[in-house]
Amino acid sequence: MDKALQDIIDNKAWTEDNLVKLLELRGKDQKDLLKMGGDCLLQTRGSEVYYRGLVEFSNICTKDCYYCGIRKSNRETDRYDLPDDAILEAAAFAHENKYGSLVLQSGERDDEGFVNRIDELLKKIKRQTNGELGITLSLGEQTPETYKRWFESGAHRYLLRIETSDKELYTQLHPSDDKHSFTKRLECLKAIQNAGFQTGTGVMIGLPGQSLKHLARDLQFLMDFDVDMVGMGPYIEHEETPLYDQRSSLWPLGERFLTALNMVATLRLMMPDINMAATTAMQAIDPMGREKAMKAGANVIMPNITPSNLRRNYLLYQNKPCTDEGAEDCSNCLSVRLEMIGRTPGFNKWGDSLHYFQRV
Ligand code: SAM
Ligand code: SF4
Repeated sequence: MDKALQDIIDNKAWTEDNLVKLLELRGKDQKDLLKMGGDCLLQTRGSEVYYRGLVEFSNICTKDCYYCGIRKSNRETDRYDLPDDAILEAAAFAHENKYGSLVLQSGERDDEGFVNRIDELLKKIKRQTNGELGITLSLGEQTPETYKRWFESGAHRYLLRIETSDKELYTQLHPSDDKHSFTKRLECLKAIQNAGFQTGTGVMIGLPGQSLKHLARDLQFLMDFDVDMVGMGPYIEHEETPLYDQRSSLWPLGERFLTALNMVATLRLMMPDINMAATTAMQAIDPMGREKAMKAGANVIMPNITPSNLRRNYLLYQNKPCTDEGAEDCSNCLSVRLEMIGRTPGFNKWGDSLHYFQRV
């Protein structure tokens, strides 16, 4: 690698300008950066990749984010809400298949019935799996009291992406009301940390109006916020969303993908002890996308264990992968894929973020 670039990494000189230099790397220097990200992970965490069985249990959402295919104003989506016994069945599947932990994700709702239902489900899953299955929630913005309640009922990780750390850009991506405010997003992330959760966030890469400088500042934000887990992936357009109108201004998909790989490798070098997911959106662009992300420093994958007949209705963006495979197909093909890149499944382990234990 070019000496000036190597100096940035050796000196941990994570200024905005330096980060832009790393994010724009292509060719041989990019290859070196991605290898350094992967090597850094192997040295700090070893070759294990942790599984989180992902249950997308409902696409009913009260929000209207301009980028998302299941936003409430998309009338073309068939809405579903998985019954409790199907969610418990998926949890049992994850447990039996040694996934170690589970992610419950859905559109955002904060009504009392929903909050109580999640609370009960958490207790049931814990009981059913003798407390062995770790539980991550990805259920959007809630009150500090709700976060605390769910933490006490057995969830121990929470994912809420900041989407972009730039207030102005965030505002352009969401309706301008209290439900979609950037300030509220930040307050929620703080409340998640305060409730005791291992706290995960992340950004989309290649959004309309987003530059490498925005992404460099996103990386600085993740570090300053002291996050424990990160999920980042390319933004992928969906026809039935307002942002689709801006598609002519987007970076080509290949550029979004390559930049996302550089984001993963750079963040791994900046924060060696966090957990980082190889996201499904990477695979949507490149069939080996998640493997490439793992080789660059990601150490978590989230096999989709939502019943396969419903998956096609959780279309956040077009060409979302794994929408027509059964959960077992996904599980088997993943083990082989990990083996191919010299990684091992961290079966039966929660695979917690080491960063969390340094932070609390
Ligand atoms: N409703 C919850 C929330 O917003 O946190 C959880 C589900 S939401 C669908 C999960 C993530 O999907 C969002 O944080 C967003 O980053 C991602 N997402 C939504 N639309 C996307 C798109 N068009 N391309 C890539 N990622 C997208
Ligand atoms: Fe709803 Fe989450 Fe999609 Fe926003 S990103 S519309 S909150 S599901």
